[in-house]
Amino acid sequence: MVFYSTRSRAHTADSYEAVLKGIAPDGGLYTPVDFSQMQVDVGALLNMSAVEISAEVIGRILNDFTPQEMRALIEAAYEGKFETEDLTPLEKVGDDFVLELFRGPTSAFKDVALSVLPRLITAAKDKLGVQEEIVILTATSGDTGKAALEGFHDVPGTRIIVFYPDGGVSDVQKAQMVTQSGDNVGVCAVRGNFDDAQTGVKNIFADDTANHWAAGCGARLSSANSINIGRLAPQVAYYFKAYCDLVLRGEIRLGDPVNFVVPTGNFGDILAGEFARRMGLPVAKLVCASNANNVLTDFINTGVYDRRREFYRTASPSMDILVSSNLERYLFLASGGDFELVAKLMRDLREDGVYTAPDGLMAAMREHFSAGCADDERALDAIGRVWREYGYLMDTHTAVGWAVLEDFKAREDNGWVNVVLSTASPYKFSRDVLSAISDAQPDSGFGAMDRLNAETDVPVPERLAELRSREARFTDVVDKDRMLDYVRNALK
Ligand SMILES: *Cc1c(COP(=O)(O)O)cnc(C)c1O
Repeated sequence: MVFYSTRSRAHTADSYEAVLKGIAPDGGLYTPVDFSQMQVDVGALLNMSAVEISAEVIGRILNDFTPQEMRALIEAAYEGKFETEDLTPLEKVGDDFVLELFRGPTSAFKDVALSVLPRLITAAKDKLGVQEEIVILTATSGDTGKAALEGFHDVPGTRIIVFYPDGGVSDVQKAQMVTQSGDNVGVCAVRGNFDDAQTGVKNIFADDTANHWAAGCGARLSSANSINIGRLAPQVAYYFKAYCDLVLRGEIRLGDPVNFVVPTGNFGDILAGEFARRMGLPVAKLVCASNANNVLTDFINTGVYDRRREFYRTASPSMDILVSSNLERYLFLASGGDFELVAKLMRDLREDGVYTAPDGLMAAMREHFSAGCADDERALDAIGRVWREYGYLMDTHTAVGWAVLEDFKAREDNGWVNVVLSTASPYKFSRDVLSAISDAQPDSGFGAMDRLNAETDVPVPERLAELRSREARFTDVVDKDRMLDYVRNALK
């Protein structure tokens, strides 16, 4: 498979290079254009396990790996890590479905991909004969950091350092990170907000002396965020898995299209749905659900992407994003691989904070995408109603999807089955979820967890419940301009 940079013809990569490099040298994102070699026969997946479906689907995308290699890699990645062998169970809620992507080790959907990425990276490293230790640097607003730590800890040939904003993550998220086990991990708070931490990490990547110095220590700096095609590919699989479950349960017939509603931030999850569609999955609409940071809703409805707007901190923090990186890949696909167009739009965004996509591209997008947004009030209201009506408890991100689904059904009910992707356990956001179903006001995240459990009887994921009895291993806090020093010390 050839992966192209979205920004120029000059940079292509095979599966191994694309996974190992993460981002192309021109700043573009590695993307396949020819989906004809990636077609999946959905009927043939019906009698496969979740792991087998993953291996089949990921193997179609990263097809330089042999089927045997991919199968072994995926089995090892998921073995014993998820609450169910299904990996991503599908629940019926009223007339609609919720696809639970949060049954992994950190109770967030990022586990699905971050369980696999470290193994793809080490396999690619072996294939290409790269000797250096891969050092993953990640800035996190909460979920990515923990899922990456869990994926990379004790993976030979890798090391991971996570920076989070001091005071900027929830009690539970902080406890998840600072208690992380493993000999190759580091966790450090940064005095500043998430943007400061992210800018700090980007500056380290861009710093030639830092890279030079890393090479001198036999290390190569890399990133685990969703611009890596190795993070996108594993997400494509659960769209196929959910579809198979619907067929097997007699909810749809093989060939019927399905709507997927996706709580969206960086546009990675929903782009995986677009990959699935291009690979042959019958998809009716991909519904992009945003919170109050509704830059994507406006884009899909108007064709103007304008990030010059107020940034809101919401109850669905993993979707508090104004620059959705993976949209770049969609623009590339929808324009038929038009490097020049994508490079120009990305330059407009960087320089002016806004771009306008061509009408033809937007018309093509609207054939398959629909968009909506819901603020905190509507999301919390949805949590309360769904709990009271159906006894199903969902988190604040999923609730944005649910509220947007209700609008979608009112606006353009196309009669097909709807699946809302559920991206986090309600216990990761216990305080807000609790406030949606009761008047209780506990004084800590763990107090809220207990109370939510007492009110609902929904089991607390074991790994979250045991956190409070675990010792914090990492207590470092650094100023935002000292992050590189922290990395240097850690690598010594
Ligand atoms: C990361 C995340 C999202 C957004 O997914 P994208 O791929 O960035 O669009 C939604 N919900 C939760 C809980 C997340 O952690």
